[in-house]
Amino acid sequence: MQLKSILNRVQKFRSFVYDKVSWVGDDQAPELEVEVVERANGRPICSGCGQVRPGYDRLARRHFEFVPLWAIKVFLVYALRRVTCSACGVRVEALPWAVGKHRLTQAYAWFLARWARRLSWKEVASVFHSSWDSVFRLVEMAVAWGRAHQDLGCIRAIGIDEIAWKKDHKHLTLVYQIDSGCKRLLWIGANRKIKTLLGFFRWLGPERSQALAFICSDMWRPYLKVIAKKAGQALHVLDRFHIMTYLSKAIDVLRAGEARALKAKGYEPVLTRTRWLLLKRPEHLTDKQAPKLADLLKYNLRTVRAYLLKEEFQAFWTYVSPYWPGCFLDQWCTRAMRSKLEPMKQVANIRRRHRSLLLNGFRAKGQFSSGVVEDFNTKAKPTSRKSFGFRTYHGAEIALYHALGTLLEPESTHRFC
Ligand SMILES: [Zn+2]
Repeated sequence: MQLKSILNRVQKFRSFVYDKVSWVGDDQAPELEVEVVERANGRPICSGCGQVRPGYDRLARRHFEFVPLWAIKVFLVYALRRVTCSACGVRVEALPWAVGKHRLTQAYAWFLARWARRLSWKEVASVFHSSWDSVFRLVEMAVAWGRAHQDLGCIRAIGIDEIAWKKDHKHLTLVYQIDSGCKRLLWIGANRKIKTLLGFFRWLGPERSQALAFICSDMWRPYLKVIAKKAGQALHVLDRFHIMTYLSKAIDVLRAGEARALKAKGYEPVLTRTRWLLLKRPEHLTDKQAPKLADLLKYNLRTVRAYLLKEEFQAFWTYVSPYWPGCFLDQWCTRAMRSKLEPMKQVANIRRRHRSLLLNGFRAKGQFSSGVVEDFNTKAKPTSRKSFGFRTYHGAEIALYHALGTLLEPESTHRFC
């Protein structure tokens, strides 16, 4: 079988054919050149307007890099025609395998963009003998195409989250679609202010904002305000992930303070290296951690009392109807208020203030995937490492959309990877 047969199988053109195939390059870096010619009756198409136009002249041959075969670089070689177009003037013809002045074929560009979702951009650049900048531009192209072709109908549930960005406590606001049939990153905004979230609703448009039925978010005040104003009809749910984060933070504060106090008084340092024991769910502890925690719980410490209150609260999530968790919540808050643990009292206060929002979760049960915001949060963080540590906002945006946007790709006869 010839290489031409393979090429015709994976990428066949209507008005062009593959011609001579030849070896170029040397033994160290062998390359294949595949000449492409137009069919006898194939008339050029204007790249400006997409209409068939009379030919004008022919340019020098150009190389377009194709998907490599057995680690051998493959180039399509073609001398482009120019057309005289009544609408656009003298223009270069449109090609089915490449756009604009791109050196890469579309097939190869999408091949690399797809690899950049699995490997770091640096790794892709090194494996395919490209540069980091070229990989970034390809991912940018894939994201632009995918975002331009995404369907924004039928968004009923969204989740709003933020991730820390850069060391100096900057944040990105991320909005996800969390419908059970469709989960994806919809929108990213720099910062987490009122203006940021207003930017999202402007992007979504009033009609789609009015169609939202569920919004899942943190208790962050700017969010609460904007949601009430822009999508007041939607049931606003505080999600479990954020609610439990408040408790973890309270325990962190207590633990750090108490560890310092124990040290100052010259007691045994029982709280050192216990942070993860106290923050993890007991069922997720390793075989080594579990006995360590059991040991720690024997001490009459403020941190231990706070930990027990946190674990007690887990029962809240096991209720089904909205009535009983309400009673549970009130009792838990009373106990937390009597605990004499200041950070826990603060959590109880926040919960009392947002009681109805907390209970909304039970009203909406099963109507969207509630754990999904946390899943996305966990995935968004390593994305920063995979790309380049989010040095620029634009870079962060592109990396996140590429990884979490579930973006479409153009249809093709063959998937190269
Ligand atoms: Zn034209």
